[in-house]
Amino acid sequence: MIASTAALARHGREHGYAVPAVNVLDDLSLRAVVAAAVHLQAPLIVQLSVKTVRSTGTELLTSMFRYATRDLTVPVALHLDHCPDRSVIDEVVAAGWSSVLFDASDRDLVTAERETAEVVAQAHAAGLDVESEIENIVGVEDGVGSDVALHAYSVEQLAEVADRTGADLLAPQLGTAHGEYRARPVLLPERVRELAALTDRPIVLHGGTGLSADDFAAFIAAGVSKINISTAVKVAYMRAAAAHLDVARERDKWDPPSMFRDVAAAVEGAIVPLVEQFGAAGHARGVARAVR
Ligand SMILES: [Zn+2]
Repeated sequence: MIASTAALARHGREHGYAVPAVNVLDDLSLRAVVAAAVHLQAPLIVQLSVKTVRSTGTELLTSMFRYATRDLTVPVALHLDHCPDRSVIDEVVAAGWSSVLFDASDRDLVTAERETAEVVAQAHAAGLDVESEIENIVGVEDGVGSDVALHAYSVEQLAEVADRTGADLLAPQLGTAHGEYRARPVLLPERVRELAALTDRPIVLHGGTGLSADDFAAFIAAGVSKINISTAVKVAYMRAAAAHLDVARERDKWDPPSMFRDVAAAVEGAIVPLVEQFGAAGHARGVARAVR
């Protein structure tokens, strides 16, 4: 069952947990992340970057997702992460994904609002939800983004723009960044609380990798109900592959399927504790009933 991203996040907000939104890179990481959600009976949002869409292709990714989630009782949504490129949005809308993040944070406010409204109209007509980002979340992820804050607005402006565009989920700047943290970030759970007081739209936390269980708890208590995880998957994936290759070189034994098993186990092992920290474990049945 392909779930609605906004419906999952709304259920999270109503029940005090955050839905894990995990970026995958290929079928191996996709199946590992789905296995973690099934193991914990948690709702899940699978995300793909524009870079992955460009390298693998929308058609193959859509087929992989449908195959990996067939016959599941756990609701799983398919989401396009940070996309400033309208032509890629056209493709995934046509392919019937759950949602897109239209990243208009590189545009000025007037242009960002106008284009977001256009994407929302297009997506809603096809049954997709839209996550909206007009302030930029710092850090470059898969070639998208900037290391400096270019656009920043008040929470009142964010809520008003969301009302005018009809966006379903909001991705404000909350002090987090993409990639690995080199210094302790200044986190802004208070900003979530202020925005949540102005709008019922689910609020999304980006740059989740590297935050503590207490950080997640503070954001969820303030109203965050979708938390994005990407770097943790990449790190678990590559470290497991590197460790496997060290042993392969030592023994001069070269067997790709056994490396795939190691990588899948590492990715699942990295995601399970995060899903638990987000409070999402055990909610699959309740959310499936609520969104049907
Ligand atoms: Zn992000």
